[in-house]
Amino acid sequence: MLRNVCDVHTHTIYSRHAYSTIEECVRAAAAAGVELLGSADHFGNMLYENPSYLDFQYFINRYLWPRTWMGVTVLRSAEADITDLEGHLYGWDRYLNTSITYEEVAPFTLLERVARDSDYLIASVHGKHWTQGATRAQLTDLYIKTMERNPKVLILGHIGRSGLDFEIDPVVEAARDLHRLVEINEHSFAYPPGRTRCRAIAERCAELGCPVTLCTDAHIACDIGRMDHALGMLDEIGFPEELLATRTPDAFLQAVVAAGLPNPLDSERPQPEA
Ligand SMILES: [Zn+2]
Ligand SMILES: [Zn+2]
Repeated sequence: MLRNVCDVHTHTIYSRHAYSTIEECVRAAAAAGVELLGSADHFGNMLYENPSYLDFQYFINRYLWPRTWMGVTVLRSAEADITDLEGHLYGWDRYLNTSITYEEVAPFTLLERVARDSDYLIASVHGKHWTQGATRAQLTDLYIKTMERNPKVLILGHIGRSGLDFEIDPVVEAARDLHRLVEINEHSFAYPPGRTRCRAIAERCAELGCPVTLCTDAHIACDIGRMDHALGMLDEIGFPEELLATRTPDAFLQAVVAAGLPNPLDSERPQPEA
């Protein structure tokens, strides 16, 4: 039986269609035996109709969160929407030059700021109107370009239920070669097509040697750590333990470093904005 004690894709009430505070999530993680929690709220256009920078300040002050909280290692992430076939992420073209207190500062993009203040990013496709008419090759490339273009993207989020008809092998091979991780997401198991696709992706990850993360994508604290369907599927196919990057906190932190990102437990706090 595989063991998985990290849950690196979860949401707080900031995501608007999620229901728990960060403290409630950490408490639930501790109770469920989760040793490392990644909080990855949505960063995309589903949150606000006409957002300003002020709407995203939740992401920039998470230095207040203890790194070890109630015995759980807590990492700061964001689930950024992929917004086009070139693999750009939400906020990439939103230029800003003031702080949240309206002081003039060196220009930056909204994406740069949220990425800077995150230990790693998860890149996911949500609304996919922009993929209409795209070829299979373009849909495959969009995931590859997302990883190539965005060094902070550690994880390709729920590709098993994106609904996009991409080719699995080139995406898995690119993730492996770029030292990124493919996500197996418990939420995807709610629907038969998601189950089938996740299984196919996991089988190819095992065969091609690409590490995966196993996570709940919990939108409420009581779901944190509950990933029995996804874990059962990995057990059924005999998924190799060494490719499960979320099997222990050390394994996940090593995967972060292997992707070229700083070890979150060593990182310094940047200058606060307010
Ligand atoms: Zn969501
Ligand atoms: Zn999510």
